[in-house]
Amino acid sequence: MRTYDIVIAGAGCAGLSLLYRLLQDPVLSRQNILVLDKRQKNTNDRTWCYWERGEGAFESIVHRSWDRLAVCSGRMSNTLTIAPYRYKMIAGIDFYRHVLELAAGFPNVVFRYETITNMSVHKKQVQIRTAGSAYQCSYVFNSTPLFQPRRPRSQQMHFRGWRVTTPVDCFDTQQPVLMDFRVPQQEGAAFMYVLPVGRREALVEYTLIGSRIMKQGNYLSVIENYLSNVLGIATYDVTGEESGVLPLSCRYHARHYHRRIVHIGIAAGCLKPGSGYAFQFIQRQCDEVLALLRNNMFPVTKKRLLYGRFRWYDATLLRVVRNRNISFADMMETLFTRVPAPRILKFLENSTSFREECTIMRVFPPSVFVPAALKELINCK
Ligand SMILES: Cc1cc2nc3c(=O)[nH]c(=O)nc-3n(C[C@H](O)[C@H](O)[C@H](O)COP(=O)(O)OP(=O)(O)OC[C@H]3O[C@@H](n4cnc5c(N)ncnc54)[C@H](O)[C@@H]3O)c2cc1C
Repeated sequence: MRTYDIVIAGAGCAGLSLLYRLLQDPVLSRQNILVLDKRQKNTNDRTWCYWERGEGAFESIVHRSWDRLAVCSGRMSNTLTIAPYRYKMIAGIDFYRHVLELAAGFPNVVFRYETITNMSVHKKQVQIRTAGSAYQCSYVFNSTPLFQPRRPRSQQMHFRGWRVTTPVDCFDTQQPVLMDFRVPQQEGAAFMYVLPVGRREALVEYTLIGSRIMKQGNYLSVIENYLSNVLGIATYDVTGEESGVLPLSCRYHARHYHRRIVHIGIAAGCLKPGSGYAFQFIQRQCDEVLALLRNNMFPVTKKRLLYGRFRWYDATLLRVVRNRNISFADMMETLFTRVPAPRILKFLENSTSFREECTIMRVFPPSVFVPAALKELINCK
């Protein structure tokens, strides 16, 4: 059985973000590392967007970044200045290539494309079984769904998007549209997301929060209608597609299965249920893991990064959305009209003070939010 110091199980966002940091550390980069994934990362399967102050770990591959965002509904169209943040976009394929190119310079890093079927701990070693091989190591960083308990069905954020190009200038490259509510709302809280990569190129994504996944054709017909009837674009080519279903579960995710099998990424609860964003939480978690490894400490991040009162706020918001006591579009319209955008972004990255949170909460009707918050206070674990 081949033996490694570290196995990274899952070479997605979390696995490769951690590998990237390990390889930049003068000591940890000398470890023997095995990266396992069931498939190669050679397609542009997703676009990551996130907001950040200053420069981050992946600045060199940021494809576009913006200092403002738009939120639109039938009644309003708001341009939101987000300084000191910038909203940044990374193409999935650029991210994968960037990390894989760095790793290619390290003979002590091995990639294998195999499906992991089991992991178990024997004394101080973890044994990992795949369909055809077995490996052992001191630590596994796991971002695969292995070891995830069955959870009650939660709300989901589901989306499908087209990358489109147009023969004439159609998109405002100065501002992505974070949410445009001029789409049908009967299937759940729904909005369109438009990421203008160029004046003639954009990612146009139909996003819903609800429990029922629709047929593929339904998403596509909404996108078609939006392009032609709302944006007035008659001619375009579809050059790519992306889609996803993200479980918006507010339940506690164990951050490790065993002291030697540590979860990272969505498997560790890094997806913020109240927003559907995970990229920056994953980066923060990887920074913490690396700091702990450097200090020879147990590399499990503190609970406060992902839980605490912010999970309660997320659960409250999702309950209100689920109960449909108030329309999601109205709620977001109020929020983005009455609260400065940088404070909303700070809140969504779980960084606000309690005082700042109070200034956000008071814009919502207490008759809707207080009962939901009290119910979630009992449910939240
Ligand atoms: C299309 C899409 C767009 C998104 N856009 C954004 C965004 O703009 N901003 C944002 O913040 N978040 C976004 N997210 C959410 C989140 O950032 C991503 O889902 C992110 O990839 C999660 O990282 P992860 O490492 O936890 O999981 P993944 O990236 O999914 O990595 C898990 C890896 O484990 C592998 N794997 C699974 N099972 C096994 C097994 N048994 N054996 C071996 N390998 C296995 C998978 O192949 C995969 O590569 C998006 C998600 C999707 C799907």
